[in-house]
Amino acid sequence: MEKQYLRPATLKEAVQLAFENESDFRFLAGGTDVLVNKFQGNDSANCLIDITGIDELHTVIVNNKHLNIGTLICLDELKKYPEIKKEFPVLIDAAEAVGSPTIRKTATLGGNLLCENRCLFYNQSEWWREAVGNCLKCDGDVCIATGGKKNCFSKFVSDTAIALISLDACIEVVEKKGGYIVRVEDIYTGNGITPRKFEKTSLIKSISIPLNQGFRSVFKKLRQRETLEFSSLTSAVTINKNGKIKIVLGGVDPKPVVVEGTIADDKQSLIKQAVKKARLVDNDVYSREYRKEMIVVYLNQSFEELSLY
Ligand SMILES: Cc1cc2nc3c(=O)[nH]c(=O)nc-3n(C[C@H](O)[C@H](O)[C@H](O)COP(=O)(O)OP(=O)(O)OC[C@H]3O[C@@H](n4cnc5c(N)ncnc54)[C@H](O)[C@@H]3O)c2cc1C
Repeated sequence: MEKQYLRPATLKEAVQLAFENESDFRFLAGGTDVLVNKFQGNDSANCLIDITGIDELHTVIVNNKHLNIGTLICLDELKKYPEIKKEFPVLIDAAEAVGSPTIRKTATLGGNLLCENRCLFYNQSEWWREAVGNCLKCDGDVCIATGGKKNCFSKFVSDTAIALISLDACIEVVEKKGGYIVRVEDIYTGNGITPRKFEKTSLIKSISIPLNQGFRSVFKKLRQRETLEFSSLTSAVTINKNGKIKIVLGGVDPKPVVVEGTIADDKQSLIKQAVKKARLVDNDVYSREYRKEMIVVYLNQSFEELSLY
């Protein structure tokens, strides 16, 4: 099929082009995930719809109740906004944990929320995957990590999603037939093969975070090197002014693991819930046992840093 590169100037045009090319396209933002996947043979879409020419996706707007961040704001740019720095420093910590400085200058916030799940047995060259018999995520009939035939446990690796979910963030989605708002945590399925719920033709317009919640947060990320490494475990713990605690984990399940509680709850019991929910398998450079232990370590450290002990 003929390869196509399209560059709409408006949102309306973008969703129309998506509708027309539904069977064989990808939106292109920073391209740091989608293009790598294409070169690795993990994405075969022939049509790329580059949304970077749409001006309204580049804005950051503060209204009375929310901060709305345009989907195309680059991860490196977030720290330049005083409102984000003051109200949501955890989002900057998470953004700074992604990739490398060069990647963060191109990678967008919206693209990070939709970054593809990863697995040691999937993110390999085509010939490597063929040699081991292809896994469930690339048209094989068995999960190489577990030997199972039904479930793909590829890891959810977006770092900013973990911070945003802990901050009760929502996204504004635009489709040809209209738009809607949905909580970030609700767009993920928990199925490693098809990790996201919304339509392929849906476009994220902005990410909105509630203001005046008195959020205090701690972010942590486990990885082999401080740069250029995807997550082996990401955690964000946020407490709001009413004492609501939200624990969010990444890198340990096909979707973000979320546990909610209050300041009055027994912290060890919250940690136990988080460990129990994480469907860890051996698909990472660190063993599942080590990552499980590190969940306990990170959450205890986070509670301590938030003076909750
Ligand atoms: C070496 C390397 C290291 C990396 N390390 C990390 C890491 O540590 N943590 C991490 O989280 N990520 C990491 N990444 C992945 C990637 O860089 C980030 O996830 C990045 O934020 C993706 O944003 P992007 O704008 O480049 O997305 P793109 O690659 O342009 O798009 C990603 C996906 O989102 C879709 N998309 C993008 N924008 C929209 C939109 N507005 N509406 C609908 N669909 C959209 C695309 O179609 C595609 O499916 C790494 C990548 C590389 C190459």
